[in-house]
Amino acid sequence: MDLAPRCHDRSDKLNKEGACITVTRDRPTIFALSSGRPPAAVAVVRICGPQAGRALEKLIGRMPQPRRAALARVRDPAEGDVIDEALALWFPGPNSETGEDMAEVQVHGGQAVIAALLGALGRIEGCRMAEPGEFTRRAFLNGRLDLTAVEGLADLIAAETPAQRRQAYRQLKGLIGDQAEAWRRQIIEALALVEARIDFSDEADVPENLVGPALHAAQQLRNMMAAILADGGERLRDGLVVAIAGPPNAGKSTLLNRLARREAAIVSPYPGTTRDVIEVHLDLAGYPVTLLDTAGIRASDDPVEQEGIRRATARAAAADLVLWVIDSQATGLVAGDFLENADKTDYWLIHNKVDLAGDKLWINSESQSVPFARKFAISATTGAGIDALIGALSTYAQGFFAATESALVTRARHRRALEETVAALDRALAQGASGQEELIAEELRAAAMTLGRLTGRVDVEDILDVIFRDFCIGK
Ligand code: GDP
Repeated sequence: MDLAPRCHDRSDKLNKEGACITVTRDRPTIFALSSGRPPAAVAVVRICGPQAGRALEKLIGRMPQPRRAALARVRDPAEGDVIDEALALWFPGPNSETGEDMAEVQVHGGQAVIAALLGALGRIEGCRMAEPGEFTRRAFLNGRLDLTAVEGLADLIAAETPAQRRQAYRQLKGLIGDQAEAWRRQIIEALALVEARIDFSDEADVPENLVGPALHAAQQLRNMMAAILADGGERLRDGLVVAIAGPPNAGKSTLLNRLARREAAIVSPYPGTTRDVIEVHLDLAGYPVTLLDTAGIRASDDPVEQEGIRRATARAAAADLVLWVIDSQATGLVAGDFLENADKTDYWLIHNKVDLAGDKLWINSESQSVPFARKFAISATTGAGIDALIGALSTYAQGFFAATESALVTRARHRRALEETVAALDRALAQGASGQEELIAEELRAAAMTLGRLTGRVDVEDILDVIFRDFCIGK
């Protein structure tokens, strides 16, 4: 099996450390609006590739000092018209973000200004609009970022809460990538010991026991990875999912709106109006929480409503926590069948409409079959009891995410790679008992390979498209 990093196109070659250094002359020069949607105060247009310097010079008539902002008039090179006054920056490769020559033009963020600038760039030979994630893809191909850092960057851009931001930033800075690379090197060292034993087994000066230390190292690595797999950092990335469920007209949508502090769901006095699942993303105590308002769950003949109920039941059953809302005035249905097979989920019972309740508050008999972890009495309309509920939700979120923020594994892809590595190391250790050195070596090679796939050092073409699909244009 080939352990050398595989480069991504034929013009790539290897530098001393084995990282890919790319000859970029043949690549097109790409450009895009990298800042947010116009109109805005400022728009940032980035240009990357072999023609970036020439394109910048054509636009502003000179080359700024590298890495120094220069004030300049931007002109359409074809017509000579002034487009805008801009700040221009020049980052010659390879010490740029992508590893290639890069230029950045900051103009006023109006639609027409941006359109004129992008149009002018498009008319410069060798330049074309970038595809989504193409700048980052070049940074990866040029060895500036490993794959886990690319994912960290995508997460950082998508982060909605401080905890998600911190986790993504750590990943961008190599939290898992550097660790995986260190493990890979240790496995290769262990492999080298086993191979030395195989290759030189006849020679007198090769120590008898090289395999023992190799297996010892494999065992330690295996244990460390297994412990890390137990941490579950994907949770923070995906967020805590809280479903608001219960019979129609109990006040679920009203509660969602109160929690979300905006009109996210339709509130109506007629039963069965929330026919789909509505999602609201909240930041609770710094942690990401997705609230689901599920359609009123009840027996119905209306096919549209039935579909809503089916979706609601499926989403709520997969949630981490269900707030089961009941009208404290109504009698009858409480949790019922809905809750029976969702054993991984926690349930809280919410008695709503206590403003109407008077002394009838606890009339609604609770289902004995459902072990509600907590009970609250609230009024979604007046806000009574809501602070206590939000406080409890925040504490729950803190407990749910405890220790996951510093977790290494933040994606299913990382988990799979580490699981495969642990499995390969286990097989190597099992072969250790049989003393079959070639088979031990084979499994260690497989372990190094799966870690190489994690950081993108080996053979990753098939997963690249999946990862870069998440990016926006201009990144
Ligand atoms: P859903 O079907 O469970 O989503 O219920 P809605 O949120 O649409 O509410 C049904 C009706 O109950 C609406 O008329 C709401 O204004 C009303 N309602 C909801 N919460 C309360 C509450 O705490 N007190 C009172 N008095 N009415 C409420």
